[in-house]
Amino acid sequence: MKFSELANYFERLEATTKRNEMVALLAELFKSLTPQEIEKVAYLCQERLVPNYEKIEFGISEKLLAKSLAKALARDEEELWNLYKEVGDLGLLAQSYIGEGKDKLEVLEVYNRLMDIATTVGKGSIEKKTDKLAELLSLSSGKEAKYISRIVLGRLRLGIGDPTILDAFSYAYSGDKSLRPVIERAYNLCSDLGLVGFTLFSKGLEAIRDFKVQVGKPIRMALAERLPSAEEIISKIGKCSVEPKFDGFRCQIHKDGDRIKIFSRNLEDNTDMFPDLIEGARKQIDAESAIIEGEALAFNEEAQEFFPFQVTVQRKRKYEIETIMADLPLKLFAFDLLYVDGEDYTPRPYIERRERLKNLILPGNVIMIADSIITDNPKELNLFFENAIGSGLEGIVAKRLDAPYQAGARNFNWIKLKRSYKGELSDTVDLVIIGYYVGRGARAKFGIGSLLAGVYDPDTDAFKTVAKIGSGLTEDEWVKMKGLLDEIKVNSKPSRVISILEPDVWVEPKYVVEVRADEITRSPVHTAGKDGEELGYALRFPRVERFVRIDRRPEDATTVQEILEMYNMQRKIEVKE
Ligand code: AMP
Repeated sequence: MKFSELANYFERLEATTKRNEMVALLAELFKSLTPQEIEKVAYLCQERLVPNYEKIEFGISEKLLAKSLAKALARDEEELWNLYKEVGDLGLLAQSYIGEGKDKLEVLEVYNRLMDIATTVGKGSIEKKTDKLAELLSLSSGKEAKYISRIVLGRLRLGIGDPTILDAFSYAYSGDKSLRPVIERAYNLCSDLGLVGFTLFSKGLEAIRDFKVQVGKPIRMALAERLPSAEEIISKIGKCSVEPKFDGFRCQIHKDGDRIKIFSRNLEDNTDMFPDLIEGARKQIDAESAIIEGEALAFNEEAQEFFPFQVTVQRKRKYEIETIMADLPLKLFAFDLLYVDGEDYTPRPYIERRERLKNLILPGNVIMIADSIITDNPKELNLFFENAIGSGLEGIVAKRLDAPYQAGARNFNWIKLKRSYKGELSDTVDLVIIGYYVGRGARAKFGIGSLLAGVYDPDTDAFKTVAKIGSGLTEDEWVKMKGLLDEIKVNSKPSRVISILEPDVWVEPKYVVEVRADEITRSPVHTAGKDGEELGYALRFPRVERFVRIDRRPEDATTVQEILEMYNMQRKIEVKE
């Protein structure tokens, strides 16, 4: 396909906010592409060249793009930069100055050139990147240049989330969305939309049904549901395994011979951050290849106890790793096994995975197997819970004995029970910031007074509001927050946001904060759970408990469904008391 045709599709996608229309348009687009093109276009729609978990980034700033554009147009760089300041969008500027014409570029050629630009690194790379981008822009028509500019800046903003692309694959292949579950399963096992699209359209549906986990490709992580008591857990899943709930960060470790990769909960490649875990994995995983999961915590050697999360999280940094590693060595509590030596363990029951995990890990001082008991007695479960709390842990996770590892699913195969305080929800929620209000009174000097935040609705691939949050941040954090949000502010409500409230400033749904609240109430102004005339749901007295969570993508936020469940659970507790 010609890139100009793809640009036309982008334009049509940009013009609609209706999800059904987006799916239909994308399906039409996929139908007219080759499998190779589908793979690349799936990435481009996400402003990427490779799956999210791979690190290749464009590394192109607005200044650099302006420089390339000036070169392509043979204009003065400063003059162009001043024009940009008036127009506010380099893509539009490129379009209006280049004009129509040419339309010679193929999708794959543009992709290859973009890849070449992104992978140009090292000495003199800035110069080289600028030249290569200038050459690409000079071969483009105005409309093509507009979208190329937006792609390299990461500002395509078509509002297409993963579920929309998965639906479109299904429509393109079968004319309806019936294949979404099988396609989604494959996606959950590899986190690579391009690979899933390529496999479906080159090898067919059977290959998708047969899809297996692969070492090196992160598996979307299974998540836990919550229940308020040991009794309810036992009556829901019967005899179960109970493990402590560690408050560190989730790690999925992939071992392929001597090569180790570590993925975070939101599937980022964190390998470089954790040399101590890598060393431990090399020494202690007794297999040629394997994928295991666990929670990493910083360990205080002197006191022989774990540090709290606020300390552990300091290990999540990109620089001076050796220094911090010496102060805060990590230990990993392994709790699941997903693959070993050619065998996909995800379909196997928990109990089998756990048995195999136990004899896979050799003794050593980095990786340990999480403690566990098997019980159908609420009293015993409670005792284990109290012990976990007593030793400074967050609570417990109960696991259904016969459950497979369900990639990407949050269900009752795993149930968490956390400490609950009177007058507070027993669990925090993860909310996506979608806008902010400029402050009044004391906060006016910061230019930000409160946040408008929402939950995720996977059914409609949209963010719906549930709280206006004005507390929990320090003065410094408000200033920092405003800086972060101003970088992603947009002129009007983003297409994936559903809101009745209008904040002073809309932002791209990107940052997730952990929020505590007293309770969930019904509300006419919030859209989470709102159905026609029915009221929505809102958090009462919400406060930010943890600043921007770098380990959560917006789609990892708490869902509308979870808010409904928490609301119902809270009512049950009220009835009991
Ligand atoms: P939450 O983030 O509150 O939904 O709780 C689920 C998280 O608890 C998982 O994503 C893990 O990072 C963490 N976790 C800690 N201990 C365990 C465990 N034994 N089994 C499963 N998850 C655990």
